[in-house]
Amino acid sequence: MPEPASPDARLTAAARDADDGRWMAYALRLARLAEERGEVPVGAVVVFEGQALGEGHNRTISDADPTAHAEMVAIRAAAAALGDWRLIDCALYVTLEPCAMCAGAIVLSRIPRIVFAAPDPKAGMAGSLENLLQDARLNHRCDVTSGLMAEEASVLLRDFFRARR
Ligand SMILES: [Zn+2]
Repeated sequence: MPEPASPDARLTAAARDADDGRWMAYALRLARLAEERGEVPVGAVVVFEGQALGEGHNRTISDADPTAHAEMVAIRAAAAALGDWRLIDCALYVTLEPCAMCAGAIVLSRIPRIVFAAPDPKAGMAGSLENLLQDARLNHRCDVTSGLMAEEASVLLRDFFRARR
């Protein structure tokens, strides 16, 4: 039998859940900003010590850059702000499951915790197709939480692609 969680541990978990909701709502606002700019509506924020250290949304069209996914934009900004390529005390919130490139960048930047909203059955590499974030053969593994506000994030993407069909 596992030990029951101490009141302190429960409090910490409750605080973390509240923070997760707050930061995913923040990432969703970034995703809506992407949509307004005609970009695929995905938003991401890197959080450090309760602050947004780096944030972004997809900019592949406006930047003519296939690597300008929301996570890449947020990770680059966070590393520049910190002056360190290792984001070891950070958490990344993103509205869509990371692709192979972004999951690779997450592993390289040593981010210990990822929270994503909607799964991506066609390109997701955090559990859907593969799980690069928790592969025992790699030198870094993340704590992954998924499904938070997944409905809002999915509807945003579905409406975006439906409007363009
Ligand atoms: Zn990506």
